[in-house]
Amino acid sequence: MNIFEKYESEVRSYCRSFPTVFNKAKGSKMWDEEGREYIDFFSGAGALNYGHNDDKMKAKLIEYIQNDGITHSLDKASTAKGEFIQKFNDVILKPRKLDYKIMFPGPTGTNTVESALKLARKVTGRTDIISFTNGFHGMTIGSLSVTGNASKRKGAGVPLQNAVTMPFDNYVNEDMDTLEYFERFLEDGGSGVDIPAAVIVETVQGEGGINVARFEWLKRLDELCKRWDILFIIDDVQAGVGRTGTFFSFEPAGIKPDIVCMSKSLSGYGVPFAITLFRPELDVWNPGEHNGTFRGNNHAFVTATAALDYWADPKFEKEVQRKGKLTREFLENLNKKYPELKGEVRGRGLMAGIASDVEGLASKVAAEAFNQGLIMETSGFNDEVFKLFPAINIDDETLKKGFDIIEQSVRKLVK
Ligand code: PMP
Repeated sequence: MNIFEKYESEVRSYCRSFPTVFNKAKGSKMWDEEGREYIDFFSGAGALNYGHNDDKMKAKLIEYIQNDGITHSLDKASTAKGEFIQKFNDVILKPRKLDYKIMFPGPTGTNTVESALKLARKVTGRTDIISFTNGFHGMTIGSLSVTGNASKRKGAGVPLQNAVTMPFDNYVNEDMDTLEYFERFLEDGGSGVDIPAAVIVETVQGEGGINVARFEWLKRLDELCKRWDILFIIDDVQAGVGRTGTFFSFEPAGIKPDIVCMSKSLSGYGVPFAITLFRPELDVWNPGEHNGTFRGNNHAFVTATAALDYWADPKFEKEVQRKGKLTREFLENLNKKYPELKGEVRGRGLMAGIASDVEGLASKVAAEAFNQGLIMETSGFNDEVFKLFPAINIDDETLKKGFDIIEQSVRKLVK
């Protein structure tokens, strides 16, 4: 019996999906205390897009610590912070012709979402935020209030305020024009709905079931926001940092959101880190109006700066996209070969999965895959999707080994 089983009744963080104790990880592999090897298709829920313990990031971090580099600096100017800001501008923003101020809102995804919601309210002088069915934005009161999942919101005890949920793209079917619905709602002064401060949306809903918003839909949402003077916030906490095939998930839609939320894989090394990007004209905050004690985590600045080296080489993005295509092909073939899945292939890039209409099957596939040495998560309101989230720099051999395990798991369950 391991320590977690022993204390199951006392410990709140008992992990139900992966019943073992892990103690080592490298690249796309993890090992447990018994020395058993697993392929990681979970990637820390999108926080480890470059895999575990990347050699270059590790070397930079060790060198930094050995030289007594400053760890915690709040808002103080530090060399590590300056280097991150400069590289983020040079490698990410400038080549994409994006002009944003970079703000450090606190360490995690929910901190960047909270800062975006507060900024939108302060800039517009309005209170409501439009969010979408099945969206997920975090667990603190503000970000939870814009999360389109009633069971998660129940954790707040009583109903939350100032959020209006609209149907996401394809919510019912492709024929439902969800944006026409949205605009009518705004036009209908009699409905008692005030013009909102902002909309917040994920281009691909990670927790909500790998629901992909079409580029056309995102473009029209952007236009609608401009028409009504509503700020457009993209939550790229999970879909960003290459997960969908480009650094920002919204790039191929040809839009430039007013505010962008980023966290998870931004530090590259699994170290907590978040930024909020906003158009310079939106900078209405006085010093100290939004901050958090761990906004100046220099270890995260060091690894995040090293991670950006990947993006300095244009071949990297092409490689990520190629692996995204391999993943799509694998899932399409699997879905065709096993009609018993009653599946639908979903996703973009390396944010992919199959939604199964057979109750409980996606969870069983993930559990069987774990028995066979693959770590994979489910997503969606009823855990109806098994979700493939390999590292974006995974080697082809490990990727294909992971595919084989998934296929064997499906075959075992449906045949
Ligand atoms: N936004 C999105 C899209 C997310 O997927 C998550 C986390 N799953 C968050 C925000 C919240 O991030 P965190 O858990 O780091 O607070």
